[in-house]
Amino acid sequence: MTKPPLDLYLAAPRGFCAGVDRAIKIVEMALEKWGAPVFVRHEIVHNKFVVDGLRDKGAVFVEELDDCPVDRPVIFSAHGVPKSVPAEAADRQMIYVDATCPLVSKVHIEAARHHQNGLQMVMIGHAGHPETIGTMGQLPDGEVLLVETPDDVATLKVKDPERLAFITQTTLSVDDTRHIVAALRARFPAIIGPHKEDICYATTNRQEAVKSVAPRVDAMLVIGAPNSSNSRRLVEVGAAAGCRYSQMVQRAADIDWRALEGIRSVGITAGASAPEVLIEEVIDAFRTRFDVTMEIVETAQENVEFKVPRILREPV
Ligand code: SF4
Repeated sequence: MTKPPLDLYLAAPRGFCAGVDRAIKIVEMALEKWGAPVFVRHEIVHNKFVVDGLRDKGAVFVEELDDCPVDRPVIFSAHGVPKSVPAEAADRQMIYVDATCPLVSKVHIEAARHHQNGLQMVMIGHAGHPETIGTMGQLPDGEVLLVETPDDVATLKVKDPERLAFITQTTLSVDDTRHIVAALRARFPAIIGPHKEDICYATTNRQEAVKSVAPRVDAMLVIGAPNSSNSRRLVEVGAAAGCRYSQMVQRAADIDWRALEGIRSVGITAGASAPEVLIEEVIDAFRTRFDVTMEIVETAQENVEFKVPRILREPV
């Protein structure tokens, strides 16, 4: 039986970013250095496939420091942790390695600097996301006000409108954030903020690539995890860019083939925590059903690399 033709547009950049790459390497190097088990506070990156793979090698994933024995090393996830977490680990004399992405740490430093200068902080982010919890936790309780939408800006109660600064989560929608920043600047003209926002290069580049692919395809698939903020934003960006079927799949088995009946083109991308092997799996699944013509749509090139912490580069 002849297969129906399908144009497959593969977005680039897609998948792993430098922060995710580094965080996974940190767990692998810690296992090599100290042997199993190594404890990891929270999923090291938001991807089940990655987490299961590291679990098989001896990593134990827990949600709180209290769940870790004091005599085993613990790693903090790429999303960052409140200041109290490494402080508590140090108090208990535990070996800990911080896998917080350096681009998240940069935001932590920004927040601390503004606070020291006597400015009240506003964070644009998603309530309950570990990165937001970690960044807000750099300052004493109640010192950071969280806004998620332009409407939140209207109801914000600040101490002094002349002494404010804002920071953002790194994995937000570039376009949605622009609107929130505009609302903040309109209500508080003296507010200080980063030149653009704190959204990282990887988030920005993956959204740009989706904007280029989504308008020309019948379906846009984002390989990622439901708890991955940057992956969820890619699905939204795909829909906002004009693709009527923009969906997340964790891997090939999740594809709803019935919903894709009759399509002539598909776009594929992956969130920053989704490994390339899952992208290949999805492409292969399309090849078994369609006569695929593939085109890579590259909107940026990336060559960012982050060093692992010194503790892992030193002998035991
Ligand atoms: Fe770092 Fe951005 Fe990757 Fe998050 S998405 S780990 S901030 S590079």
